[in-house]
Amino acid sequence: MTLFCPPMVPVVLYDNIGQCSSSICRDMNQTTDQLRSSAPLTLRMHAADNVAIVANNGGLPAGTLLPEGVPGAGICLRDKVPQGHKVALTDIATGEVVRRYNVPIGYALKDIPAGAWVHERLLQMPSARALEGLPLATVIPPQHEPLAGYSFEGYRNADGSVGTRNILAITTTVQCVAGVVAQAVARIKAELLPGYPNVDDVIGLEHSYGCGVAIDAPDAVIPIRTLRHISLNPNFGGEVLVVSLGCEKLQPDRLLPPGSFAISDERDPALGPETVCLQDDQHVGFMSMLDDILASARPHLERLNKRRRETIPASELVVGVQCGGSDAFSGVTANPAVGFCADLLVRAGATVMFSENTEVRDAVEQLTSRAATPEVAQAIIRELGWYDRYLDRGQVDRAANTTPGNKAGGLSNIAEKAMGSIIKSGSSAISHVLAPGEKLRPDQRGLVYAATPASDFICGTLQLAAGMNLHVFTTGRGTPYGLAVCPVIKVATRSDLARRWHDLMDVNAGRIADGESTIEQTGWELFHLMLDVASGRKKTWAEHWKLHNALVLFNPAPVT
Ligand code: CA
Repeated sequence: MTLFCPPMVPVVLYDNIGQCSSSICRDMNQTTDQLRSSAPLTLRMHAADNVAIVANNGGLPAGTLLPEGVPGAGICLRDKVPQGHKVALTDIATGEVVRRYNVPIGYALKDIPAGAWVHERLLQMPSARALEGLPLATVIPPQHEPLAGYSFEGYRNADGSVGTRNILAITTTVQCVAGVVAQAVARIKAELLPGYPNVDDVIGLEHSYGCGVAIDAPDAVIPIRTLRHISLNPNFGGEVLVVSLGCEKLQPDRLLPPGSFAISDERDPALGPETVCLQDDQHVGFMSMLDDILASARPHLERLNKRRRETIPASELVVGVQCGGSDAFSGVTANPAVGFCADLLVRAGATVMFSENTEVRDAVEQLTSRAATPEVAQAIIRELGWYDRYLDRGQVDRAANTTPGNKAGGLSNIAEKAMGSIIKSGSSAISHVLAPGEKLRPDQRGLVYAATPASDFICGTLQLAAGMNLHVFTTGRGTPYGLAVCPVIKVATRSDLARRWHDLMDVNAGRIADGESTIEQTGWELFHLMLDVASGRKKTWAEHWKLHNALVLFNPAPVT
């Protein structure tokens, strides 16, 4: 075959997990001409790796000679290698380690010659690191230089938290009331909301919990506190209005016990939350229920409507980062850019939550050594140990995480996926750990590990409960994911996805692989976009189209 011989292109190297050294990031710019000419391009994450991924759109055919300057130069591809998939850079004998990100992502199940496609069927996945004997706070990253002077326009709440949106939320105690609340919300939007122009939205906090569940089981604490804390999300301005059925297990004062919440109105918190109970004798007919909810909503709307955005330091952002529909580029483009941005946020005094237990499990050693204190490291071990046992009850392990789409996108197994996932957390010390459904205390800032399942909607729901006021979501395969409670900024890992989903993706991190941007530049782009979105100056595409995924509770306790 005829081969285009491009000019010298640098090997892409990372000096540590998630840390692209700046000189090399500059080098990545030089790849632009190569991609435009569709010359074969491979990306290697670390000099010690014996595989690289194919960057070219559509992959590379068998017989392609890897040109001078790219990882594997001079190797002829033995197989067609799809985009994002791995090619062996050396002969790898049966049983030898396959290394990416300078960590073992598997062991060869048979001899793999240089130039072969290294797909998941050729790899034996490494077993998970035991949770005993882990390093505790042994390589605490030094504090980065503070980043001052950045602010956004937000809504200051009575409890000190800050909203990025001004939303009336109607809390529900049980799924039974969901249909009624949906009708009430539709009427509030049509009949009341036009009179309150400073209120962004009215939403019902619908969920599947509340009855038919073993509510006294120890693990029931997770869904209950999740619902409680979502009702108190900073974007709701401290306004609490509950709709209850009446006979359900999760009674309003169990969901929101007196004293568990501060509210902005003059109501005595000792009375418990303001509640419309559908089974009350006063309700005669469906319309009386709706009328009652509308009448109860009105004073909340009036108070919310009086609020105005004010200039707030960037330190009040509480950003949840997550990925979904990941591919092999997630760990090369979008997640490193998010990680760089996470460092900027931490430097600005803000809070960044990263999560997804099954996607950090294979990197536990990195996390415990990065913890700010041994106590934080122990809390990471506690949460991941609990999750190991939870998975074990279901007779699976963290390997159950990966999807057909992940594998089609080049991720062979969870060990490889995890290395690309944790890069989102940047390089700061981990300062706090939250158990599922717990809410951040005002003094818990910096980089936080919020222990959640990796399931997109469950992770997002738990991050909302923790107090998230802005969400960043990276995707390689593509997802239209969005939340009603807070804005979701979506970051594409590949330019092809960003091009096709031009009105769903907010940031194209694929430009990093194209050589048109660097990790730092895309990280800064994301940082500035966050301030604009938090201020309401810009809407995300998910907001524009009103794409709202359901709240999905994590309920590890039995149902009845
Ligand atoms: Ca996820």
